[in-house]
Amino acid sequence: MSESSKESAAIVLDCQDHGESDQIVTFYCQNIGRMTGIAKGAKRSQKRFVNKLELFSFLCIRYTESRSGNLVFINEAELLESFIGLRQSMPLYKAATVLRELTLVATCDLEGDDGFFSLLQWGLQALDSRRPAMTVLVFFQIKFFEQIGYRPNLTFCLHCNQPFNATQDYGFDSRAGGIVCGGCQGERGQITDLPLSRGTIKILQSAQNQPLSRLHRLHLSGSGLREALSLLYHYGRHLLQREICSLKVLSEAHWKG
Ligand SMILES: [Zn+2]
Repeated sequence: MSESSKESAAIVLDCQDHGESDQIVTFYCQNIGRMTGIAKGAKRSQKRFVNKLELFSFLCIRYTESRSGNLVFINEAELLESFIGLRQSMPLYKAATVLRELTLVATCDLEGDDGFFSLLQWGLQALDSRRPAMTVLVFFQIKFFEQIGYRPNLTFCLHCNQPFNATQDYGFDSRAGGIVCGGCQGERGQITDLPLSRGTIKILQSAQNQPLSRLHRLHLSGSGLREALSLLYHYGRHLLQREICSLKVLSEAHWKG
């Protein structure tokens, strides 16, 4: 490795052909965050890049920073994990595209965030091991919003500040990002909050409080899963001020199904 060459663990988020033989690749890298580079001759170089610069591949890349401009030069890539399981199932692959789109929307180049890298890696691994795709999407988003500094409030009513109580009814105000108790909903009259059962609130609270390594113990299905997906979809759309297209398609199919 030459002196100026650096190395990083990286997950491929985007890959575009550039000219006759190059590729421009966007990664989410450990310690570095999002980074885009050019892989010169990638389409010709069987040895250095073949089957590596694919969406979602987990790589060790060696790169050189450019003296001008933001693109780095990708010199070499070693495949650490190809997540073959998620490539063999269309629902899992589609769910992985949601993780990708959320990450691209919410991150900027070269803003290192190890929490984000671990979360993305967790999401891809969970899909690769064939955990239910929509459940993975719920837990990914719960952690994702926290990671970008907007943890949804599921612990006390946004209006009266009373802590969550297992005998009370609740809704979720996606604009304010938290739960509202039945009493406060009654006082406000016009209720636009999303319905949210106490059981779903408890599972989402657990997901917020558990480390990634324990999320596989939590389960959501049926109406609880639909409520959680709806809450996170509306909250995300408000927060990011845009549609997450890949998520909209999957969620709508799930709500109808
Ligand atoms: Zn209240």
